[in-house]
Amino acid sequence: MTITESNASKAPFWLKGDCPPWCQFTGDHKGDDYPDDRSHMGTDFSVDLTLEPASYGYPVSVEMGLYQHVTDAEPSIRFAGGSWKHAVSLTIAEARAIATDLLALCDEVAS
Ligand SMILES: [Zn+2]
Repeated sequence: MTITESNASKAPFWLKGDCPPWCQFTGDHKGDDYPDDRSHMGTDFSVDLTLEPASYGYPVSVEMGLYQHVTDAEPSIRFAGGSWKHAVSLTIAEARAIATDLLALCDEVAS
């Protein structure tokens, strides 16, 4: 089968609607993406942890980013220390609660 330009630009069969506005792969999802990879992903953020021992000369970092597999009803935030393999998933409400508590702790130092 020959892939024509019109086929190449067609949305993959597994994508049932538009990407959410935060998806960094809008227009780049492929029909042959592995089922586990069929997800919308936002910008990743990373913070190096200076109090943790370096690993192989590199700082340990916390990574976080928006994620929504196409079968998920809502987006979540993946949060990982050191490796995405050990990521935990947070609802948006849980992430807000953690962010609020972290800011409260920081404010205790500042006051
Ligand atoms: Zn997407």
